[in-house]
Amino acid sequence: MLEIKYDELGGIVNVDERIDKKDIQVKRKIRQGYNFLERLLIKNSKKVNYLFDENGKYSCRAQIAPSVIRIGPTNRCTGRCFYCPREYIHDKGTGYMDFALFEKIIAWAKANKVGTISFALFGEPFLHPRIFDMLDLAVKNGMKIRISTNAIVLKKEWAKKLLSYPFESIETSMDGFTRNEYLKGKQVDKYEQAKENILYLLKKAKEKKSKILFNVHFVDIGNVSFLNKVRYIRFWKKELKGLKYLTSFYYEPHNWAGTRSHLTREMNFVDRLLNKWELKKPCMYIKGMNIDWNGDVYICTNDPAEKAVIGNANNDSLEKIYNGEKRMKYLSEHESGRFKNLNCAVCNVNSVRPLAVIKKRIINAVVGVFS
Ligand code: SF4
Repeated sequence: MLEIKYDELGGIVNVDERIDKKDIQVKRKIRQGYNFLERLLIKNSKKVNYLFDENGKYSCRAQIAPSVIRIGPTNRCTGRCFYCPREYIHDKGTGYMDFALFEKIIAWAKANKVGTISFALFGEPFLHPRIFDMLDLAVKNGMKIRISTNAIVLKKEWAKKLLSYPFESIETSMDGFTRNEYLKGKQVDKYEQAKENILYLLKKAKEKKSKILFNVHFVDIGNVSFLNKVRYIRFWKKELKGLKYLTSFYYEPHNWAGTRSHLTREMNFVDRLLNKWELKKPCMYIKGMNIDWNGDVYICTNDPAEKAVIGNANNDSLEKIYNGEKRMKYLSEHESGRFKNLNCAVCNVNSVRPLAVIKKRIINAVVGVFS
């Protein structure tokens, strides 16, 4: 068992040696473009076709800046989720974003009419000692804000202040209904702490009649029993009553651009079979901009590998990075469906697995009836 080492702010600094990134094998597939069914999907699905203009090109090519910037105030975290590729995330070291860099990003965002700053990338945003100054600065400059947290360090005394911000959404992750399920998911013994913090925040939000959209979710790959899925949804629905909230309480983990492809192998036989039939589609994540604590700009929030870094905000202008060659290559390959040298070839975020979707819909309907 790994001895977890924390920094003075409560961020985990070490990575379990068992998951050394050199051990992960990514099988490459060469594609010749979208097939007939994929083209049909792209043309007819409202969830996909809005990405393209009438010439089949990404509409965001016309923008010089994204509408959303996702910031990682730190890449350290308070959890060790089994589905998180932290050996990649920690690969170039760990730390906390310089406030001066954050100011530079916000100044650029304001000048380029970026609408939203989302504090959600690879680490736990509430670990940053100046997270409230970051929120203040974004709001003062007219940005909408969102945040995602596992709530482990979400102090109760912060609730009032937090709820005074005009957040679009606060997303919390509570992996499992029981302490054991949580331990399997997050791999840290913080079940009670996280649960109490979320419950307190929701209680205060209800008292305040907050208009923030909340989400309490878990990631499941069979570690949460069916009965506990029902119990989880029933419990959190009750706690969220009176607030705006998302009704999708659980997700299957994606494969993090292939860096967690072994998760698929851990699925049961039926799920593996259902996941086999996969249709590729253009990815929506490459519309945005994702800036890590050290200024590295990632093509998306789901690929933590070095290859996905398209520039560094300390060295280049953000406009140059957003409109640069590296990002354009992503756009071109997603437009054509040939993901030659990109991790997108093995990522399952840009894919639809029709049989798995049908199964999930059935389970959600059944769980909905029982909860
Ligand atoms: S398809 Fe590519 S851009 Fe989209 S999430 Fe996966 S790795 Fe990122």
